[in-house]
Amino acid sequence: MRIMVQKFGGSSVKDADRIKAVARRVINAKEEGWHVVVVVSAMGDTTDELIAKAKQITARPPRREMDMLLATGEQVSIALVAMAIDSLGYPVVSLTGAQAGIVTDNVHTKARIQQVGAERVRKELNDGRIVIVAGFQGINAENDITTLGRGGSDTTAVALAAALSAEVCEIYTDVDGVYTADPRIVPDARRLDDISYSEMLEMASLGAVVLQPRAVEYAAMHGVRIYVRNSYNNNRGTYVQEERVMEKDMVVVGVAHDTNTAKISITGVPDKPGVAYRLFSRMAAENINVDMIVQTTKADGLADIAFTTSRDDAQKACEIVENVKNELNAESVRLNETVAKISIVGAGMVTNPGVAARMFEALAEENINIHIISTSEIKVSCLIDEDRIKDAVRAVHAKFGLVAATA
Ligand code: ASP
Ligand code: MG
Repeated sequence: MRIMVQKFGGSSVKDADRIKAVARRVINAKEEGWHVVVVVSAMGDTTDELIAKAKQITARPPRREMDMLLATGEQVSIALVAMAIDSLGYPVVSLTGAQAGIVTDNVHTKARIQQVGAERVRKELNDGRIVIVAGFQGINAENDITTLGRGGSDTTAVALAAALSAEVCEIYTDVDGVYTADPRIVPDARRLDDISYSEMLEMASLGAVVLQPRAVEYAAMHGVRIYVRNSYNNNRGTYVQEERVMEKDMVVVGVAHDTNTAKISITGVPDKPGVAYRLFSRMAAENINVDMIVQTTKADGLADIAFTTSRDDAQKACEIVENVKNELNAESVRLNETVAKISIVGAGMVTNPGVAARMFEALAEENINIHIISTSEIKVSCLIDEDRIKDAVRAVHAKFGLVAATA
């Protein structure tokens, strides 16, 4: 049985016309001989609107009730898509996450899929039906509805593709695929034909939000081949898979940026063992994700430490640092919320020297100051002032020759 999973995001099902277009696309695949499983998101901005509704009632809605609320968005979409397909004369059935066997842990609003019991889906496919599954939602051991975090429909699609051994998981969105940079900032950014899981994971985590990072992780773990494409056309999209076909000179595949970041520094802490531990173990205990970290040693046995967190966590992180400052008699604590991170990503970096230097050259030519640098095998990130981020992305993108060939 050749199975294809197709996932349609909110913009692809935002109104009746788009839903009918989705129905036709699904039927085309069916006509080509595929068994088709369709995963859909909530229509348009529905999820945002539901969140706003909850906020009108209370600032702190219980997470379980949040999930009960948010899951309704996807339920509307599956029913409408199923009706559209039925009206064109094809056998179809819609299923909630629970009906499709998406079992998660108990972490309401950020649940992780633990198991996919796809028997029902398989039975419906065997009976010749197109199966429409509500993305983003699952069920926990107590039979309560859970949701998978923003963008979670991607993960539903990948998890079903893995459980069904689907040949491909198509993710339909409103752009042609994965780009070398955000096309809204770099108009001549180029669509990539292929990107590896690890590169995509970096791009996704760095703010290029075509795919939920968890979906990429899940796909890598289970070897699911993802094809990101545009639901508005039939253009070639981007494959996310194990090995990308290395295009010539493509040491760097993309430039990502993230403005949801803040820098916190503490100066004049004692330069002795245990200080970093004291600071960062408390961040961990409060579930605060720390990204870049630098420590510099000063004269007379003192050191400065600076690090970044997301802006949502910045205040909380600052409180922790203030406490540590008082305990250690340190000099000062500073918070800077007008920074942004620019990163280059590419698996070829490991074997090519001088990649980081070229990035710094591009920033120097623009007279952009770097606060913090961090590197991994496939990524170099620089923290800079937020008001220069667009200049930085354009300059670095051009420096690495990522611009599209002019037609
Ligand atoms: N509707 C959910 C959201 O807006 C899930 C998704 O679209 O993937 O985040
Ligand atoms: Mg999405």
